[in-house]
Amino acid sequence: MRDGPLRTLVKAIARWVWATELKLRRAAHRLRERPAWELGGACQGCACCCEAPAIRVGPAMFYLPLLRRPFAWWQRVVNGFNLVEADPETLSLVFRCTHFDWKTRRCDSYHSRPAICRDYPRTLLGQPWPELFDGCGFRVLATDRARQIAILEEQDLPPQTLAELKDRMRLL
Ligand code: SF4
Ligand code: SF4
Repeated sequence: MRDGPLRTLVKAIARWVWATELKLRRAAHRLRERPAWELGGACQGCACCCEAPAIRVGPAMFYLPLLRRPFAWWQRVVNGFNLVEADPETLSLVFRCTHFDWKTRRCDSYHSRPAICRDYPRTLLGQPWPELFDGCGFRVLATDRARQIAILEEQDLPPQTLAELKDRMRLL
């Protein structure tokens, strides 16, 4: 169901809080170490990331019902996300979004979509080997690709092997 003015306002406030906290956390992380990955490309609007939005949470939130229930309640009532699965491997809570129209593959409240939708797939960049959906218009690129490309090009490799390595190592 399309968001009304009240839910739009609540989501805008929540989004601001979330985005501010995330910016600070990422800035602190950048000070400690250089991120391994960055994004290239752009969103093509395929909507694959709307099919089963997942939120990674900490172990306490994942395992303690006292924390998880209010979080799931907030996601359901405010964001329209219904919890369908909990993945212990990635400590992710997986949802079905009630704003997603499976026929048109459109969001009925795109203007007020939550921060995790706006941030995707940047949120994956903290993972050791981020995987995007097939067909996603973004690309994951190694941040030190110039150095890695220089090292590879110093080797006496056939052009096809060189191109394959660059592709596999996410240098292009
Ligand atoms: S999967 Fe990628 S291209 Fe598709 S909508 Fe999401 S961000 Fe955009
Ligand atoms: S709120 Fe909109 S953008 Fe976010 S998952 Fe649902 S349909 Fe997609």
